[in-house]
Amino acid sequence: MEIFAGKSVFGGIAIGRISIYSKNEQQVKRIKVTDVEGEISRYHKAKDMAIEQLSKLYDKAVKEVGEASAEIFEAHQMMLEDGDYIDSVENIIRTQEVNAEYAVAMTGDNFSEMFANMDDEYFRGRAADVKDISERVVKILMGTESGKIESDEPVIIVADDLAPSETVQLDKDLILSFVTVHGSANSHTAILAKTMSIPAIIGVNIPLDPSMDGRMAIVDGFEGKIYVDPSEEVLAAKKKLFAEEQDKKQLLEQLRGKENITLDGQRINLYANIGNSKDLALVLKNDANGIGLFRSEFIYLGSDHYPTESEQFAIYKHVAETMAGKKVIIRTLDIGADKQADYFELPHEENPALGLRAIRICLTRPEIFKTQLRSILRASAFGKISIMYPMIISVDEVREIKAIMAEVKEELEAEGVAYDKNIEEGIMIETPAAVMMADELAKEVDFFSIGTNDLTQYTLAIDRQNQSLEKFYDPHHPAILKMLKMVVDSAHKYGKWAGICGELGADTELTKDFLAMGFDELSVSPGRILPIRKIVLETNVAEYKKEKGLQ
Ligand code: PEP
Ligand code: MG
Repeated sequence: MEIFAGKSVFGGIAIGRISIYSKNEQQVKRIKVTDVEGEISRYHKAKDMAIEQLSKLYDKAVKEVGEASAEIFEAHQMMLEDGDYIDSVENIIRTQEVNAEYAVAMTGDNFSEMFANMDDEYFRGRAADVKDISERVVKILMGTESGKIESDEPVIIVADDLAPSETVQLDKDLILSFVTVHGSANSHTAILAKTMSIPAIIGVNIPLDPSMDGRMAIVDGFEGKIYVDPSEEVLAAKKKLFAEEQDKKQLLEQLRGKENITLDGQRINLYANIGNSKDLALVLKNDANGIGLFRSEFIYLGSDHYPTESEQFAIYKHVAETMAGKKVIIRTLDIGADKQADYFELPHEENPALGLRAIRICLTRPEIFKTQLRSILRASAFGKISIMYPMIISVDEVREIKAIMAEVKEELEAEGVAYDKNIEEGIMIETPAAVMMADELAKEVDFFSIGTNDLTQYTLAIDRQNQSLEKFYDPHHPAILKMLKMVVDSAHKYGKWAGICGELGADTELTKDFLAMGFDELSVSPGRILPIRKIVLETNVAEYKKEKGLQ
């Protein structure tokens, strides 16, 4: 038995086999071949396999995200069958007498460069697609498929680190737990683990060599340890713990359908945070009263092009309809910093967390913003949608957003397109500036939702991604708690509601304090809803305040 320790980001026990997640960033080598026809036939086999993979991906995507978003996989299949592309690969193999991998990679580069230099915007957009399909064929030829979980049964993913764009590609049904060598507790991989309610540990000094792949292991998310090839005793003890956890979960099940009301009659809404529509099953299972944070940027991260209005509309409509009249708060695009999508071509920045991100991108490139607003507004005719803007620092920004929103509404009006005319608009409070301006901002918007992840980072001047600073990253810092109270008070002063959608909202050590501060809503990972409901049901807020000397 080998034991590796790290830092826990989500508790729980997972028992299963290890799957090493490798990025496989291998270089394609140019190799001379003698059997040219054999190489051409290898290429055709790989191409057919790629088409088959894409057809499966298309079916999966239609079910999960709808027809419009799935179309890209159909387009990729057609590109692989393009006569010019095939001729080019065959020519390179024949004339240069080289391996298929090299010929495909060369063709991919040449075609993508040709597309990138075209005047027409549509064709320029195809450059990334050609690269993508070529990489798929190369990976098949090399027998290395990155980002794919090579298993039929759920596994423990062990990786160096996972970028948000990588986690969106993983098949969530095949993941028992995440164990990463790097990564921080506030990273989006950690957030994903919490959303899925699966044990996860980071900062684990575990070797990523192939000998680890397929070995039996136990992840104890409470202790922050992974036991590889566990002894009989450890296995028995952890199985017992696993069974106890299941019992606790069952107890919480009994809280499903109950209202979130304290012993002295104070109510609070418990909403869920989601990254994409696949999380909806968990939202319903955990009996959320609504969705308090739909991180819409994950739609952008999961795409290789700017998601079109119809692609986005299909997703938002699906979420609104699935929630059947319960509130769905869609946070507009929060890309930048740790969430990068290549096609945005964002400039390199020395300090990306303090850079061009979130609402700043939307206000700099209003055409992207308008597409998103149009699709959200159109979807608002199919359920109860609210819009929330991230990273706000000033009243002027809110006014600028309102002006863009008014233009979009006018356009829809002129086109006779239905939307919710009273759609609720709120902002995230995640910068100290927004806290200080909360009184003025409250007059402009319908609600506040505090993003404590960023608010902690910007208040304490600590990069939330920096693993070595984790001991300093303290969301319980009195400065943060004081800010939370200031924000609720400002909202209430102007008859608006206030919630928390950062990770701190799920911290059960503070649930009573949040109730005492008067929060109207907490939006948390789906798996945290019922444990928080339990505390709400057991709390007498008036008594708690007396006990703590709070007014
Ligand atoms: C936050 O900053 O607390 C938040 C909820 O937004 P994100 O974690 O997506 O930056
Ligand atoms: Mg944030």
